[in-house]
Amino acid sequence: MKKAENHECTNCGEVVIPERRSYRYLESGLENVILQGVEIADCPNCANSDVIIPRMAKIHRSIAQALVNSPARLTGDQLRFLRKHLGLNGEQLGAYLHTDRTKISKWERDEDPIGPSTDRLVRLLAAALDSELRPGVSAVAEHLPRISDESGKELELHVNVATLHTAFLPVLRAA
Ligand SMILES: [Zn+2]
Repeated sequence: MKKAENHECTNCGEVVIPERRSYRYLESGLENVILQGVEIADCPNCANSDVIIPRMAKIHRSIAQALVNSPARLTGDQLRFLRKHLGLNGEQLGAYLHTDRTKISKWERDEDPIGPSTDRLVRLLAAALDSELRPGVSAVAEHLPRISDESGKELELHVNVATLHTAFLPVLRAA
């Protein structure tokens, strides 16, 4: 792995050597995505932390690809991520699913459960409409019978930012 380069604190300009760590990527809009090996520059001068996320578009596509192949039910925030990844607004996604944006919004806020058929249709749509995910659409279809009824909230998605390897792991909660 290439050595971290010095970084100038975006707040005060102090030169900091970033450290590679895991980072909960809440800016993605997803509660349970952990980026592994992200450079984080903790400034000793002003206590600012800069998170340096490389190849953002590739990371987002890897997240989308993992979500359409998730072993568990899609959560509201995952549905929202996939919709935004496809560049659709609520009304446009609603047109594909024969529903309206109010319903989409309720699913995304976990106010209404996403039905199992809708979950599967959303995965196929996401794989079919993204040109780079499209080659994997048949694998997504073949995976559909294996999706469990477990909630996606019980799993964390780990993404290695160097290799783009993804893995779902159980959320560890303190006993
Ligand atoms: Zn600083």
